[in-house]
Parts: sequence; C-alpha cells; structure tokens
Amino acid sequence: MIVSMCNLSSSLGSLNSFRLVSFHHSAIPKITKPSLFSQFPKVVSSMSYHKELAAAKKAASLAARLCQKVQKALLQSDVQSKSDKSPVTVADYGSQAVVSFILQRELPSESFSLVAEEDSGDLRKDGAQETLARITELVNDTLTSDGTCISRVSEEDVLTAIDSGKSEGGSNGQHWVLDPIDGTKGFLRGDQYAIALALLDEGKVVLGVLACPNLPLASIGGQDQHSLHNQIGCLFSAKIGEGTDMQPLDGSSPIKVHVSAIENPEEASFFESFEAAHSKHDLSSSIAKKLGVKAPPVRIDSQAKYGALSRGDGAIYLRFPHKGYREKIWDHAAGCIVVTEAGGEVSDAAGNPLDFSKGRYLDLETGIIVTNKKLMPSLLKAVRECLDEKPSSL
Ligand code: AMP
Ligand code: MG
Repeated sequence: MIVSMCNLSSSLGSLNSFRLVSFHHSAIPKITKPSLFSQFPKVVSSMSYHKELAAAKKAASLAARLCQKVQKALLQSDVQSKSDKSPVTVADYGSQAVVSFILQRELPSESFSLVAEEDSGDLRKDGAQETLARITELVNDTLTSDGTCISRVSEEDVLTAIDSGKSEGGSNGQHWVLDPIDGTKGFLRGDQYAIALALLDEGKVVLGVLACPNLPLASIGGQDQHSLHNQIGCLFSAKIGEGTDMQPLDGSSPIKVHVSAIENPEEASFFESFEAAHSKHDLSSSIAKKLGVKAPPVRIDSQAKYGALSRGDGAIYLRFPHKGYREKIWDHAAGCIVVTEAGGEVSDAAGNPLDFSKGRYLDLETGIIVTNKKLMPSLLKAVRECLDEKPSSL
C-alpha cells in the first residue's frame, strides 16, 4: 500500500510554517481534562484542522514544485485535448496525483474524499502511455525531492491517485476540494496560475491553501513594498477563525495579510479574469464605472486574484461568467476562505454567501463579487443597478 511506503512526517522541513504549527500542536495533549477545554474554547477551536492545514500546505507546495518544473520546460507535446477541449497538461494530472498522495500519506487515519477537476479517463486510453510515463516520472521526482520519500510510485498508483478525486462532495463529512492547476490558460501562457486546495467540513470551507508560483511577493497593485524585494511565488493559507497567512513558496516565515481598508471606490482597483470568455468584461466595466472606480481593471488568471485581494493589492474582484456556465467548487473554495479570513467578503451578485455544500457545482444564478466589508453594500447596489439596466447580461 502506497500510504505506508514513506515517512513524510519530517518532509518539507524547510517550511518554517510547518515547524511553527508543529510547536502549537505539541501543546495540545497537555490539555487533557474536559473541564479545561471549556475554559479555553477559543484555543480548542483554533487547534482544529491543525494537521490538515499542515498537510494541505505541504501538498500544494510540492504540487507547485512539479508545475514550476513543467512550466519551465513547457513543450507543445505536453498539451493534449480532453473532451471539453480545454487544455490539459501533464502538470495538471501530476499536480492532482501529488496532492492526493501527500494528503493520504500525511493523514492516514482519516477517511479520504477528494473533489477534484481531473480524472484518469484520457490517460487510460491507447496512445496516452508516453504521457502517463512522463507524469509518473514527474510525480516520483517531486515526491522524492525533499529527500524523505525513497519508494517509487507506479503508473497504476498515479492513475488511482488521480481517480481518488471523483468524490461528489456534499454537506456531510469532510471533503478535500482541489483545482490542481487553476488558470490552465495562464499556465500555458507563462502567466498566473494557482494550485488551490480547500477542506470542506459539513459543507463549510474550514481551511484553504493557494500556491501561486508566479505571483510576486510584492504587491501587484502598484504600492511599494520594500521588504519583499522582487521575489516570486506565494503560498496563502487560511484556517477558519485564524486569519490568513502568506509566505514565500520557498518556505520562509509567514506573515498575516489583510484585505484593503479602502472605503472610497474612487481609490479602489478591481480584478477580473484575463480571459474574456470566463467573465463579462463589459459588465464589470459598467459596474466599476457606476461605483466610481477610476483605475482600469487588473486582469489576471486563476485564484491568484483571491490571493492578491486578500493582501490588499486591489479592493474588488468581479466575476460574471457567460450564460450557461456552471461554476465548480474547486474554482472558489480555497480563494473564498483566503479572502474571508483576511477580512473580506465573498458573495453571489445577489449578496448571498457561496454554498459549497451542494456537490461539485456552485448553484449560482449570477456572478461572484468579492471586496472588503465597507465597500460591499455600495458594490452590491452598483451590481443590482447594472443588472436591472441590462437584464439580458445574465
Ligand atoms: P480565470 O482564471 O478567472 O479565468 O478562471 C479560471 C477558471 O475558469 C478555470 O479553472 C475554469 O474552471 C473556469 N472556466 C472555464 N471555462 C469557463 C467559462 N466559460 N466561464 C467561466 N469560467 C470558466
Ligand atoms: Mg480552475
């Protein structure tokens, strides 16, 4: 069984955050009497999902390592088409396999349910052998890259790990939610993409991690941040009730991040999809104009938008997919908690919170809007007015 092959408990030792949370964790067993728990309800709740968050950070960081390697050596032959014609790369499958392996190995005593974007159908077809061999090699290189895992996984192990992502999710129990490469188009262009991993418990997002290998540590919103230099690659992580952290993907210490405190829309800038096919740029432009936003849109791919917003690079994220598109939970679960724990709000265009308990899809009639608590009422008003003026735009 793959789970028993490696001792990963000490892996990714370079991640300071991992050592930090381990320190907190070691304090838990000292509080043994139930009566003491009732005296420290906050402490107890903050201890929840501790090892799950550590495992998620490790899984997303290693998956990002695999993706970075592939992006560097991106070749046309690494791109194949799948039935819905969207581009899929070996990195997509490899990332999903790595996350699946790491979560199962790090959390062996927990039942494992993963809701993820990819399945192995295309990889099992005739003609895909070479691709599968390449993915398996990449996965093995990645799993062994921190020196603690020496056994190799087979092609069949990789296919099984990918297929563990077929869960339907829902409102009962715990489910991991993964987009192995969010923003595939950005990835292929050499722009922004993210590995987005979240945990649902009883239908609620309780933790989320966004690895954004191409996102600068410094603001992309134009503000100068001297201390962070020109480093590229961010890891955002959030756990319910504990705020949002950001750290360099290479593992140095995390800092707490907060959404923008801007109250005047004239000072705000807004994010939207780079791809016009993914979000109506004309509608967001009307909303921004009505709100009084002066700055032009910042268009980037993937949930890196949620990450950037969580640290105040911009104050608003507008997403209005074209008619008929159904949003998937893995495109928003991690981003949503990263923003809300940083003090922001995420809702549909009618002001309702996103509901992740309904299975693989978000049941949304309208778009998704994200901003800080101060700006949300006026943003909602502007959205409503624009939609009333142009009901056909939904
Ligand atoms: P973004 O980076 O904001 O463009 O969003 C990327 C995500 O949009 C992808 O991971 C897809 O799951 C999702 N997506 C794919 N097709 C569409 C579409 N037609 N409308 C909206 N989102 C889409
Ligand atoms: Mg996606």
